[in-house]
Amino acid sequence: MKITEIFSHVLQYDLPGELGYSQQYYTRRTAHLVEVRTDAGVTGWGECFGPGNVAIGNKAIVEKVIQPMILGDDPLDRDVIWHKVYNLLRDHGQKGMPLQSLSGVDIALWDIAGKVAGQPLFRLLGGAHRTRVRAYGYGMMLKRQSVADHVARFRDEAAAILDMGFTATKMKVGLGPRDDVQLCRAVAEGVGDRGRFMVDANHCYTTSDAFYVGRALEELDAYWFEEPVAPEDLDGYRELRAGLKVNISGGEAEFNRWGWRQILENRGLDIAQPEVCALGGISEYQRVLALCHAHFTPVINHVWGSAVAVATNLHLLAAMPPMPGGLHPWEPMLEFDTTDNRFRDELLTEPLDVQGQVAAGDGFVSIPQGPGLGVEPYRDFIRHYEIDG
Ligand code: CA
Repeated sequence: MKITEIFSHVLQYDLPGELGYSQQYYTRRTAHLVEVRTDAGVTGWGECFGPGNVAIGNKAIVEKVIQPMILGDDPLDRDVIWHKVYNLLRDHGQKGMPLQSLSGVDIALWDIAGKVAGQPLFRLLGGAHRTRVRAYGYGMMLKRQSVADHVARFRDEAAAILDMGFTATKMKVGLGPRDDVQLCRAVAEGVGDRGRFMVDANHCYTTSDAFYVGRALEELDAYWFEEPVAPEDLDGYRELRAGLKVNISGGEAEFNRWGWRQILENRGLDIAQPEVCALGGISEYQRVLALCHAHFTPVINHVWGSAVAVATNLHLLAAMPPMPGGLHPWEPMLEFDTTDNRFRDELLTEPLDVQGQVAAGDGFVSIPQGPGLGVEPYRDFIRHYEIDG
């Protein structure tokens, strides 16, 4: 069996309204799908993390840099392929866009392996430790509006996300520490005693500002405080984790086993959030997961993008061993973006319908059972939304 062609599809549409987080506002939804074709007629699908023009840059890496390295290789030799590509690109980037690009290719190779074996991905990874996983709904994005308008909107939106059936929700912050504490208080009120809430700073604080917000989060009983400081600020992470009672989470901007080894040995994370579509794909995710568990650090995957990314993560969450285990073990959750995303809701011939499942099943989502990722994108849908790179 041989790899014959690799295509990148960058999909984009204009969102109904502008959305923001602590770093920027954005008006377009982007997804980057990778398609690996073989001489056996089996096609695998993967996805690369990276919005907007980053996706267009990654498309060039997938098609012009990685594809020539591996055309003709056996797609089942995915670990050999991973190391061949990584070793050839090491001098040109051990993190960032080369790894995001490799991730999409690697995920597609696992999809092929599952289709060839006639088995779902979770079984290739060793089997399902759980048949369904709880989802948490994130929303409460920043907009160009006053603090008072943010406060009112966040309180309402937090309540609305719990009304959808989610038992936990995650908000953005980034207006500045004092205003952000007001937003957190509003979300705590909106959630009440119906569920939990988490706070995502997207690394906008200094360590001292993160302590200021973090102390308020302790009082408000937030579940976790995500990316409080810059991912490079290992000292800041360690000091925050040692000094605050709220869980410190992060890791979505970290790559490969060597980057993860460093942040885990630093002891700055209560919860690790690896992004499979960025850190190096499923092959590397498995190594990062083992490293996290070797440090007894629980894992709740970072999830972003299309239905391909959501399906990939459902398999990974199903196959994640309990750590440390027990009658009522700590359980991972599926991250779910409640804002407008056609690439998640309309891409597949059989939609995952996460929101329908959450509403019907106490906040839980089932794991796809078909071979490979167990999902098939509509070709016409891809053609409709694809942009030229
Ligand atoms: Ca985040």
